[in-house]
Amino acid sequence: MAKHDILYAPWRKKYVTSNTKKESKNPKTCIFCKAPKEEVIFSSKKIFLQANKYPYGEGHLLVIPKRHVNQVIDLTSKEREELFNMIDLSVYALNIFMKPEGYNIGCSIGDVAGESIKHLHFHILPRYKGDVAWSRLCDFEVVSLSPNELAISLKEIIEKNKLAKKFNL
Ligand SMILES: [Zn+2]
Repeated sequence: MAKHDILYAPWRKKYVTSNTKKESKNPKTCIFCKAPKEEVIFSSKKIFLQANKYPYGEGHLLVIPKRHVNQVIDLTSKEREELFNMIDLSVYALNIFMKPEGYNIGCSIGDVAGESIKHLHFHILPRYKGDVAWSRLCDFEVVSLSPNELAISLKEIIEKNKLAKKFNL
């Protein structure tokens, strides 16, 4: 099979639609504002962590402020502190879980940047030599680890290693 063929990954079936994007403008219909509890891997006072349901690659996490904001500049200093602590916690847990060789960490703001949901969220994407995930955001990838399996494993790691305390969350 050619390296860039389209492959089947079931959880990408319901890929973020233009409707989801439109709905995310309103906190009442935004998928991050009404994220089901069981999808949350870890939650602090102001920030929560979940597995991306439409992963670009294995181990793809999202760090999300609980408050419906669209811009980084809208974050309070407390939210910024917790957000970066949550990023640290995520990287620490992913290092234990899958030992990646690198990471992409960042957010997309505005349509031209490929923003999918109008509720600020930071992507954490583990990277390995030779993978192509980040450069092919819109294509299908083979991801053998489901978001649900990822969430279960990371919850265990966070608890076992007392990461909430370690990262002051
Ligand atoms: Zn929202």
